[in-house]
Amino acid sequence: MNRAIFLDRDGTINIDNGYTHKTQDLKFYPDVFKALSLLKRNFKFIIITNQSGIGRGYYTEDEFHKFNNHIVNELKKNGIEIKKTYYCPHHPDENCNCRKPNISSIKKAEKEFNIDLNRSWMIGDHPCDMELGKNAGVRSIYLLTGHGAKHLEEARKFNPDYIAAEISQAADYILFNKEEKIIDRKDITSIIETLRREGKSIVTINGTFDILHKGHEFILKEAKKQGDILIVGLNSDSSVKQNKGPERPLNSEQSRARMLANFDFVDYVVLFNEKTPIDLLEAIKPDIHVNGDDYGENCIESGIVKKNSGKIHIVKKIKGISSTNIIESISKT
Ligand SMILES: [Mg+2]
Ligand SMILES: [Zn+2]
Repeated sequence: MNRAIFLDRDGTINIDNGYTHKTQDLKFYPDVFKALSLLKRNFKFIIITNQSGIGRGYYTEDEFHKFNNHIVNELKKNGIEIKKTYYCPHHPDENCNCRKPNISSIKKAEKEFNIDLNRSWMIGDHPCDMELGKNAGVRSIYLLTGHGAKHLEEARKFNPDYIAAEISQAADYILFNKEEKIIDRKDITSIIETLRREGKSIVTINGTFDILHKGHEFILKEAKKQGDILIVGLNSDSSVKQNKGPERPLNSEQSRARMLANFDFVDYVVLFNEKTPIDLLEAIKPDIHVNGDDYGENCIESGIVKKNSGKIHIVKKIKGISSTNIIESISKT
């Protein structure tokens, strides 16, 4: 059986200007080729798209095909094959059975391409994509591109497996194979003992890392430069709720751990349930603990790190580095 990635089109693959249908308006998201190239070895790609612009009379079915063929051909030039595009041409008022979140297209694809739905994924930027995934029994990833940031709260009702800032993160999440880097809190002491015996210096950093952005990548890379082994202390879901309220985090602790473990420069991820990482840092006794300059030298971790003869290293954060202001404001709250 085959595994599939069911892709929404506008807002997921290409920038959605609102009923986008002219070839001269086509703009791919810059990371879409990389993301799909990573996924193509294990998955067939199928586009499922609502095109009510046809039913509303904004463009014809021929214009839709012309634009869609252009997208498919451009992807093909980059080595990415779209097996088929399923589209709904109807106005929402027609109550057809092909408009997402109706599952008829996925069911057709399942037969036509012998797809194992349980091991397949839906990626999209609209709550209807997440509802479709849920209804069809495929796992799903919600993107904050396109309509994504605007409809985030509604999309969360359908429990996407992961909420990603961009499609390349979706690929990383799906292809995750670094399970061994996520360590159990009760194993930390013996791992630290082994690392100490090997003469390794240990760097720690901690945080929630909910919606990942370039700023996170930057500070983690800087942290790794400070020693041999980088251990990320990750606030568990209950820890995040204690700090930020019941509506957070957006992504589950397992999902957040998985994305951090994907980074080459992260050696271990360990969850902590307490409100602060002080107990965890007492167990690790890092040589260096890294923090952003928004907390500075007097961060809550300072006392415990210095008591165990460690140093605090402050990384100056780069302003405005995250993908969009909306994502920045989501990740700060
Ligand atoms: Mg879309
Ligand atoms: Zn339809």
